[in-house]
Amino acid sequence: MTIRRQDCYVVTCDICHAEYTDPETEQTVWWTDAAAAEQGVRRDRWMVLAPDLPTRIICPEDDDAHRAIVDTLMPPEPVMQIPGQIDLNGIEESSR
Ligand SMILES: [Zn+2]
Repeated sequence: MTIRRQDCYVVTCDICHAEYTDPETEQTVWWTDAAAAEQGVRRDRWMVLAPDLPTRIICPEDDDAHRAIVDTLMPPEPVMQIPGQIDLNGIEESSR
């Protein structure tokens, strides 16, 4: 038997620090390269964001902490106002 060192990658959530585990065995998955790890966890509803973001790997956990971070990543809600409609400030759309 030979014992040798082999580098591997383990994916953890940047919010809760949970390790990605195999859905069937619930064992931590060891990946041979980072790109394969990112693709693998994406297939299981994990978010993998741009490398320059401080929070870039997010597990599918749906608690307040995860939702708060995901909400900051979403674009702002579009402001919809029909012409002639008065907005919350009492200003009519067509008068702008
Ligand atoms: Zn998480």
